[in-house]
Amino acid sequence: MTEIEKLDKIAINVESHKLLKILLSENPVLEEILRNSKNETEVVIGVRSWIEKTLKDRKAAFKFYHMKHPTREHFEQLEWRDYAIIRILDYIDHAGKEYPDLNLRGEIAVSNPLRLIWLAVNKGTGGAKPGFFRDMIELFRQLRGEMEQQLPSKEQVEEWMERYPSGLDPRIIQLRAENKLRIINILIKKLDQGKIESRKYRFSPEENYEEKLRKVNEWWEDYHFHLHFAVRDPDLVNEMLDFSLDPDTMKILKDAEAAGIPFFVNLYYLSLLHVRVPYFAIGADLAIRYYILYSKKLVEEFGSIVAWEKEDKVEPGKPNAAGWILPSHNNIHRRYPEVAIMIPDSMGRACGGLCSSCQRMYDFQSGRLNFNLQSLVPDEKWPDKLARLMEYYEKDTQLRDILITGGDAFMSSDRTIKNILEAILKMAQGKKERNKSLPEGKKIAEIVRIRFGTRLPVYLPQRVTLKLANILKDFRSRALEIGISQFLIQTHFVSPLELTPAAQQAIQRLISAGWIVTNQLVFTSAASRRGHSVKLRQVLNDVGVLPYYTFTVKGYMENNFGFAPNARVVQEQLEEKVVGKIEEEHYPAIKEFSSDPKHMSENIEALRRFADLPFLATDRNVLNLPGVGKSLTFRVIGITRYGRRILEFDYDETRNHSPIIHKMGKVIIIESKSIHEYLSQLKELGEDAKEYNGLFGYSIGQTEHRMPLYDYPEYEYKLDKEITNLEI
Ligand code: SF4
Repeated sequence: MTEIEKLDKIAINVESHKLLKILLSENPVLEEILRNSKNETEVVIGVRSWIEKTLKDRKAAFKFYHMKHPTREHFEQLEWRDYAIIRILDYIDHAGKEYPDLNLRGEIAVSNPLRLIWLAVNKGTGGAKPGFFRDMIELFRQLRGEMEQQLPSKEQVEEWMERYPSGLDPRIIQLRAENKLRIINILIKKLDQGKIESRKYRFSPEENYEEKLRKVNEWWEDYHFHLHFAVRDPDLVNEMLDFSLDPDTMKILKDAEAAGIPFFVNLYYLSLLHVRVPYFAIGADLAIRYYILYSKKLVEEFGSIVAWEKEDKVEPGKPNAAGWILPSHNNIHRRYPEVAIMIPDSMGRACGGLCSSCQRMYDFQSGRLNFNLQSLVPDEKWPDKLARLMEYYEKDTQLRDILITGGDAFMSSDRTIKNILEAILKMAQGKKERNKSLPEGKKIAEIVRIRFGTRLPVYLPQRVTLKLANILKDFRSRALEIGISQFLIQTHFVSPLELTPAAQQAIQRLISAGWIVTNQLVFTSAASRRGHSVKLRQVLNDVGVLPYYTFTVKGYMENNFGFAPNARVVQEQLEEKVVGKIEEEHYPAIKEFSSDPKHMSENIEALRRFADLPFLATDRNVLNLPGVGKSLTFRVIGITRYGRRILEFDYDETRNHSPIIHKMGKVIIIESKSIHEYLSQLKELGEDAKEYNGLFGYSIGQTEHRMPLYDYPEYEYKLDKEITNLEI
């Protein structure tokens, strides 16, 4: 007996039976087809002809269903019932197809929902779970026009936003001051008792408590202190949190430790967690909490995590998954023609903390990455390597944008950052010089944009010192002279509570240095609650930060806890983020933002007031697809018996890709959580599932257009069309 035949024999459980009954009683046409069909083929024929009749009269749906690459404009013409019609036809078109399910370590998943229903009706088997039937019930309600798309009013969205105070709220500031004092007192005690020792941070025997307190408060302003005393074991975290972690959480953390998952929380970030839950912000810190506390699933999967990013596998001289030839194993990552990521051999490979949903968990398994900060000091070979990396950028015909990241780019020392920036200036100058001798149509792309990827303004804002800001400022004024015009810091706030006075000061310093600060939010289950992300966009706007991307959580079962289904990402975009939608008439104004970075807060505020928007929705909701890049262009084409959806993604047709994209075909993603499970999880997080009505209906996504503010400037010369460093 094959595995599939075995699955067919599994009896459905009582809850599934009850849900099946509801499905049939609500859909007499479907029931008739099922009862009159001798086998699944007849069911499929019956349902197809029923649905196709409906499709014929619906112009937008008909076009969308048959088009190879529909656009955002086509998507916006769809009506709510169209989603259901297209989904049922897609289910039929893909019935019986097998997909390796990397959530289940490569087990084969087959999608055949009509067959599962037929087996359940006729034999009581097929093994479909309640999550599957719940999804099917909602699908047919949507088809009949009974499950409505209820777009919330602006007032409703603003009410949801109020649930999430920012870290600048005076009541939160007061709580954090208490947290800080508690942590400092524990540290003083442990240093006094010799339980923690440090050659750099210590007291003299004659210092009294007040003096010690003053001293630690001074150390607190120095980011080295926080890295030095970062907590690496669960018991100490619990003690620092006044023993508020429950035994279940502690067990998971201890199991994680035993499994070899590193633990690294700096004292500043730890002070952001509530110990005493305030009445006005119950559950508000969950997005932070689950960012540093690991889940049971992560611990279970650690050791078997499969790499998500195919293009990160690099062998020098051989093309990566996107076809790019790269000069070194670990320093350059490239997916698109215009930009390549550079990761220095330095402390920049580490971070100020370890985010539980980080894709680098894969690398931690093999011990390739760790938090042994001493070993990350760049060695003497680094200057030679940096020169080689710069040569790659210099000679490439298309590269114009360099993104320095890690780990975390600001974990590198000031000296390393300075050296890198000097090397970039030299390289950019080299490109310019070379162009002087090249004819029109053969000229190469000159560097126009430079970016740093860092979460330190959030994890450890003390890192953004005046000295670092001056390095950035000085670089900018020199770089402007040679034509580099866009200077961006890409940071990573996940919660409004992370915006503290210290984080605000860090951002202010970066803005004063003439750099634009943008944010990449990871849409975790806790961050996906109604109002959470829109509130984050608003508080970031208040301090001059522009949202850039809202990312679906990547990965497989290891990230199951933090994963919010793509349906919710689309719902958030169309029901909440839409309140901050910038109409095209304001595009010229927003485009101007980049030429006046020092007045970003004022310019954002002026546009918000003029256009009457609570925030500027400058970000795009996307998933970072393995090998393909960022996109939210998908259709749900299948569903597993657990109710987990199977999505077929296409690339974002609004941006340039490696030409390999045309050979790649579409990407199948099997979600690690059904919508049913997600709603149960939201209930556990204190949410009212009714507020998410309509969620099941979001089965299609289409990538949003990029804000003109993020476009590259045009060259005044004609560029060489030849793409170098590419092999397909
Ligand atoms: S800051 Fe980014 S790279 Fe570092 S642990 Fe978090 S997600 Fe991973």
